[in-house]
Amino acid sequence: MIEASNFIEEFIIEDLAEGKYTSVHTRFPPEPNGYLHIGHCKALVIDFGTAKKFGGLCNLRMDDTNPAKEDTEYVDAIKEDIHWLGFDWGDRFFYGSDYFDKDYEYAVELIKKGLAYVCELTPDQMDEYRGDLTHPAVSPWRDRPIEESLDLFERMKNGEFPEGKYTLRAKIDLASGNFVMRDPVLYRIKYVEHHRQGTKWCIFPMYDFAHPIQDALEGITHSLCSLEYEIHRPLYDWVIENVSVPSKPRQIEFARLNISYTVLSKRFLRSMVESGRVDGWDDPRMPTLCGLRRRGYTGASIVDFCGRIGVSKTDSLVDIRSLEACIRDELNETAPRRVAILRPIKVIIDNYPEDKCETFELANHPQHPEMGTRPVKFTRELYIDAEDFSEVPPPKFFRMKPDGEVRLMGAYIVKCVGVVKNDDGSIKEIHCTADLETGNGNPVDGRKIKGTIHWLSASDCIDARVMLYSNLLTLENPSKLPEGDKYENYLNPESVECLDGCKLEPSLADAEPGSKYQFVRTGYFCADVRNPGTFIRTVTLKDGYKPEK
Ligand code: ATP
Ligand code: MG
Repeated sequence: MIEASNFIEEFIIEDLAEGKYTSVHTRFPPEPNGYLHIGHCKALVIDFGTAKKFGGLCNLRMDDTNPAKEDTEYVDAIKEDIHWLGFDWGDRFFYGSDYFDKDYEYAVELIKKGLAYVCELTPDQMDEYRGDLTHPAVSPWRDRPIEESLDLFERMKNGEFPEGKYTLRAKIDLASGNFVMRDPVLYRIKYVEHHRQGTKWCIFPMYDFAHPIQDALEGITHSLCSLEYEIHRPLYDWVIENVSVPSKPRQIEFARLNISYTVLSKRFLRSMVESGRVDGWDDPRMPTLCGLRRRGYTGASIVDFCGRIGVSKTDSLVDIRSLEACIRDELNETAPRRVAILRPIKVIIDNYPEDKCETFELANHPQHPEMGTRPVKFTRELYIDAEDFSEVPPPKFFRMKPDGEVRLMGAYIVKCVGVVKNDDGSIKEIHCTADLETGNGNPVDGRKIKGTIHWLSASDCIDARVMLYSNLLTLENPSKLPEGDKYENYLNPESVECLDGCKLEPSLADAEPGSKYQFVRTGYFCADVRNPGTFIRTVTLKDGYKPEK
């Protein structure tokens, strides 16, 4: 017995029990007009996950019905991203446009049944005539004789008319309370080259007509989609009822994923790319799957996130920090530790000989001894992070301060004995003396050293660039965008910070592109796949956020 873990699965269990279907077959139908974003991952988890749970199949179908802005670049990227998440469609990869001949046949069938007609209203007139809640729509061509519609529709297909001159409309209900059912347009004329069909067609089916047909032709049983399609469901069902398709799929809707400070809309994301406001679809600030990947997210952490948020029928806003918590949890377990000093200041250990060099072993992961240790060199001149020093320390500052003692991680306890300034008042170098009995992290009797800070030898480190990213938008809930306003007015001017001259352990010079680390006491970082020598902060080490249980 399969137990339902959400309302979709409950429906499916009922359908199977009633014998409406004998197996489960779903599909994921992206429009190849952009790269997938994390909202699509929610749909993928539902489509592939539901099929898997019921021992069924899930197709991948490029919904390329609308010929505008589609591109094989997007098709390839979509496939790559889905595989990266760990889903596989096997040999069931399709294009919506492969069914254009069938769509046309079914449209002719509707005309012959008196259920569709060729209309001559211009788009403006169509708007004007659509009526309102108390007035039905007006459609002057609705009673055009069947023969005439058949002839005009064929000539539309043959390219005899200009764009906008005619449409094919379903004859349903001009007075319907659901405007989608007021004789919706099924086909329109468009002289646009299709990325797969070339110039074979100059009439294209509307999504609401093509989609149910595609589902039925592929033997889809459950067509799972986001909530905005709910009002289209009566039309979906109407098409399935009235054309002689070989199967009867059922559409079920779920709430879209919304994340705070994040816009999940391909159109908006594309405008960010095209206007140059971000550095491509895989800019690490983008909520695209390729952007998250470059940022250092793993496919598993994103799938895990989509599992944690669950499936519901009402819209809600997910806190972006719960996404960050997913990758933080994973990297905390798996990422080897390294030392990086993002804002270096020089420290000189006055009582340490200039020509001396010791090697200390630091653990690659404190909880996983099997991950081993690595040697780190200690010399008279070191770097520490500017944040770890305060000349006028606030209360409870346990890092380095004048006359204070602090542990250098895995090495000596040192005491700050002086600060040398540059002419502009900035710190040139800090002078310390080390307690040379305390090397290798050895404890010292009777002394309480509250702080431990990380460090690198000034003669044994590399320079690197480190990129710190934060939210692209300052608007917490993007669905609350004020009327007439636009997201571009809420771009966070501080969404990227570029730090040059950071000091890293020398072994990071050979970091594999995309490899992930915890920079101790700092955060999780990965080696940028695009720019060798640059590291990207995936997520900070901690934040106060506690996900609701
Ligand atoms: P966008 O508005 O970003 O362009 P879309 O819905 O037009 O998204 P499609 O390529 O048509 O994008 O989407 C493929 C599938 O992904 C659809 O079934 C859609 O319901 C689903 N989907 C898109 N965005 C989300 C989201 N934020 N949450 C859940 N599912 C989504
Ligand atoms: Mg769409």
